[in-house]
This record gives sequence, structure tokens and C-alpha cells, in this order.
Amino acid sequence: MKQTYIDLVNLPGAPSFEKHVKAYMKKEIQKHTPKIIEDKLGSIFGVLNEQSDGPRVMMAGHMDEVGGMVTGITKEGLVKMIPLGGMKGDVYLSQHMIIYTDDLSEIPGVTASKPPHLSRGEKNDAPLKFDDLLLDIGADSKEHAEELGVKIGQQVISKNDYVVTKDGKKYISKAWDNRFGCGMALELLEAVKDEKLECSLYAGATVQEEVGLRGAATAAGLVKPDIFLAVDGSPCADSFGGDEISGKLGEGFLVRFYDPNAIMHRGMKDYIEKMAEKHNIKYQYYQSKGGTDAARIQLADDGVIVATIGMPARYIHSNTSMIHEEDYQAVKQMLIELVKSFNNETYEQIRSNV
Ligand SMILES: [Zn+2]
Repeated sequence: MKQTYIDLVNLPGAPSFEKHVKAYMKKEIQKHTPKIIEDKLGSIFGVLNEQSDGPRVMMAGHMDEVGGMVTGITKEGLVKMIPLGGMKGDVYLSQHMIIYTDDLSEIPGVTASKPPHLSRGEKNDAPLKFDDLLLDIGADSKEHAEELGVKIGQQVISKNDYVVTKDGKKYISKAWDNRFGCGMALELLEAVKDEKLECSLYAGATVQEEVGLRGAATAAGLVKPDIFLAVDGSPCADSFGGDEISGKLGEGFLVRFYDPNAIMHRGMKDYIEKMAEKHNIKYQYYQSKGGTDAARIQLADDGVIVATIGMPARYIHSNTSMIHEEDYQAVKQMLIELVKSFNNETYEQIRSNV
């Protein structure tokens, strides 16, 4: 995988803690365009062809990843946490997690689990919640934990272990949801910056997606797009015997035709399918139970034509996840072709087809 993606997944950034991811994005966007815009919550976009009289096209990943937030320390020195985003307790049991201080120094720990020797005879059928977990950083008392640097409100992120699978085609890492979309924004800017675009392009990343698409709302107010393309990781069920609309690694980008908060714009769906076929780009249909920034942005102003170019990803919202090289290429190619094709005529064609 390109180094920018590896750099991005290794950075910590729970919702509202996107500062370091954002600094990285800014540094990289600057390589492709001098024009950068930011909203007050932290979303950031590189702008190309701003003076165009064509449609305003916005593309975004989101910088945040699911993570914990420190809410207290027990007298024994264990750290209490709440989840920022959807995190199941059983998934995070016995995991290496790191508390990050503001200057990015690390306090490593492990989520505490009772060994079977201690829980023998106990009966507890209630599902474990993330809030029930305690992080053991090796502190001997509350005071000791404080001396080691623990403070209420800090972010807690899974320790990362980026690896390429033995067949060389898949990448395992935390935070593919959604540093993938952040890296893609950078690649899009790089790919089209020397093209004669017939639209204006705002490519970048939002904040606080995992806690309810909050950054999307303010970013839409900043950009005021006609068209919005979200690029986001969507969970695949293929390793659990999923069906044909639950995502399969390696089968191409996802046409998210339905999620509970956004039904894909008819004209846009039609356009994307035709473009994918014209350029021989692999795609698959996907029905989602979750939502992406597209759900929020479609409702901005008098409406925005949105689509999510979904990236198949196994095991997201856990300490690690897996994506496929060929899906990455499909997402990238589709985005580039779409942006190159948008102009007043194609926009009108999409908009009127509803
Ligand atoms: Zn996401």
C-alpha cells in the first residue's frame, strides 16, 4: 500500500481527536493545491479549479476512527472508558490499546479480562459493553495512573499492527474505516490536478463521522456542493457466508444502493453504473445497515446529489480490519473517472433523472 495510507492508519484519531490526522492531511494536500479550506469543527478540503462555472463537486473520507475516551480511574489504577462510535465490548476484550496524551506520547495497556480461573462458577449472560471494560496500564493505584499521565477526556486507540497478507493482495490494519477515504482524497487531488476539469473539486475529509455524521453537516455548509461523493469502508459479511448484497472482498467498489438513512439518488446510481461499465471497473451492490456522511450531506440546503463509493472492508469497528488491493484500485479508478466526467451537461443529466 502507498506510504500515505500506512502513515494515515498509524495515526490515532478518535472522534474530536482528529488533530494529528488533519495536520498530516494538510501537509499532503499542500503538495497538490495551494487552496485549502477548513470548517470550525476540523474538516479540511483541498480545492481545484475553484473558478469553474461547472458543478461544485465534493469528495470526502472521514478522519476519525472508533476509539475510547477516558472517564475515570479506579482506586486499583485501572482506567474507565466510554466508546466514541459503535464498539462492542466482546470485540475489544484482551486487546492492546493505547492512551494518547495531547502531545502524542503513549500510555500502553491491555483491556482487562478475568482469566477463567477467576470466573469459574460465575454466570453472566448479559453481553459485555465497551463501557464495562477497564484498561490496565500497569498502574498500582489511581495516583500512580495519574503520575503516568492519565487524564480524564483522553483518547484510547487500538495498538496498530499493519501487515500485508501472505498472498500480497490484502492489507490488515486498524482504521481502514476511514483513513482509506482520507488517503483516497489525496490520491484524487494528485490524479486530477493537471486535468482540464469542468467542475470545481473539493476533496478532503470530515470529522466526527462515527458519532453521528457531525462533521458532514458543517462541511456541507462550508463547501455547498452540488454533488457529494463519500468514500468509506463498509463491512463485508463474506467471511461469514454473506449473500450477494453484503459485500465481498476483491469484487470491486460497492454501489450502496440502500442504507437506512440514504437511498442512492436514482440518477446518480444510473450514472455510476454506466460509467463503471464504460471503463470496465469492477463493482458490486451493497445494502448497508449503517450510514455514511452522504446521509447527512444529501439534506443540506435544497438537497445535494450524493453517492457513497463504498470500500469493502472486513472486521471494521474492531481493533483491526482487512481490505483488498483490487477494491482499492476500483474505488480509485471510479472516483477519477467520475470527477473527470462531471460538467454542467452531465450534472443536468443526473439531476433530471429522478
Ligand atoms: Zn466510516
